[in-house]
Amino acid sequence: MTTFNVNELVEKYPLIADLLALKDSAWFNPAIAPFEEAKNDVGLTEVDIKDAADRLKRFAPYLATVFEDAAKSKGIIESEIVDINNMKKALEDLYGINIKGRLMLKKDSHLPISGSIKARGGIYEVLHHAEDLALEAGLFKKDDDYSKLASPEFKEFFSRYKIAVGSTGNLGLSIGIMSAKLGFNVSVHMSADAREWKKQKLRAHGVNVVEYQNDYSVAVAQGREEAKKDPTCFFIDDENSKTLFLGYSVAGQRLKAQLDNMGIVVDKEHPLFVYLPCGVGGGPGGVAFGVKNEFKDNAHCFFAEPTHSPCMYLGVYTGLHEKISVQDLGIDNITAADGLAVGRASGFVGHAMARLVDGYYTLSDDEMYKLLYMLSEEEGVKLEPSALAGMKGPMYILKAEEYLKRMGMDDTTLANATHIVWATGGGMVPEAEMLKYLDKGSKL
Ligand SMILES: *Cc1c(COP(=O)(O)O)cnc(C)c1O
Repeated sequence: MTTFNVNELVEKYPLIADLLALKDSAWFNPAIAPFEEAKNDVGLTEVDIKDAADRLKRFAPYLATVFEDAAKSKGIIESEIVDINNMKKALEDLYGINIKGRLMLKKDSHLPISGSIKARGGIYEVLHHAEDLALEAGLFKKDDDYSKLASPEFKEFFSRYKIAVGSTGNLGLSIGIMSAKLGFNVSVHMSADAREWKKQKLRAHGVNVVEYQNDYSVAVAQGREEAKKDPTCFFIDDENSKTLFLGYSVAGQRLKAQLDNMGIVVDKEHPLFVYLPCGVGGGPGGVAFGVKNEFKDNAHCFFAEPTHSPCMYLGVYTGLHEKISVQDLGIDNITAADGLAVGRASGFVGHAMARLVDGYYTLSDDEMYKLLYMLSEEEGVKLEPSALAGMKGPMYILKAEEYLKRMGMDDTTLANATHIVWATGGGMVPEAEMLKYLDKGSKL
């Protein structure tokens, strides 16, 4: 472990003082670059996104066969996007702002199969691996009907292979449920933050849940070690996986089609702002890559993190990326936003997206709970705490005069803007747990 001279760091990067004080903080990256230039940092292209989208299409008949909730959408894992006008008024009152454009909620919280954004990347990587194995074994061709994979023969075939993953909860839920359904032997290494009900749900699906008293990085490292010892075991690496990232990135073209259908224009005069809760970075990074690929410089993405876990903010702001953790500064990485409880960001995502994400901000757990309660009251939508992190985005952006000026945005363009808060999880939270969240939020 590297030790850092915190005073020197603060001198060089003054906003670290806010992070250390666990204060709400925002940083607007001065180094963002035009998409056509910065896309080369990613090492992946539009062709890779299309390949992922095609793979998900091939698997749709299978998913529709084996998951009741995916049958309604014919096996396409996608979420609704809805206007939240009551919440918009409530946010204007709370923050003393005027959101002139449109405010929408992208409900990945209610994605089929596992009820979080991880139903994009996590499930995609399991499907990718299953396809590779079946093709390699010559059991299967790409133009076959993929619902064949639901047969006992394939389940028996996949049961000879193992899958392992480390998770704070939702990634484990997605990968565990999907892997077990295919027939894989799957282990989920759960960090101390992981909620009990997520572990129980996994065990009910026949998943091997390994519990740790440590945080996410330790759970991931242990999973990685276990997999190394066994050549039949495939480790899904949340910190480095390009496959996960591509699964998330398919969201961009799907979002484009949804906005087109609603007649919502995105261009230079009608900018798009997207607010994404960030843990290790794969989910928001992949989605932001897909969104930027569709809308180029007319889309502006922001990552939101808890004040106790601002790992991506810290990594990109200092340029130290995965070389520094929040714990290196004495920040504890303890947050009720379990999906975001990550102390060290993905180096792959940090580097890939360093010039494509407009800004980073933090908010407290109490604020997430408060927003959770507000959204339930105003719109009847119930989310888990992590999923509210994006909701503070418009407040930061609309008050950021210097940033808005730099982006050439005036009152007219802002009046034409669409703001999308990406709701990343909560659709499967048990009612008793949700009542506790709401009760807490109502008192703040
Ligand atoms: C995992 C997760 C995120 C963030 O995704 P990362 O890939 O970890 O950055 C956000 N919200 C919820 C609810 C999550 O489960």
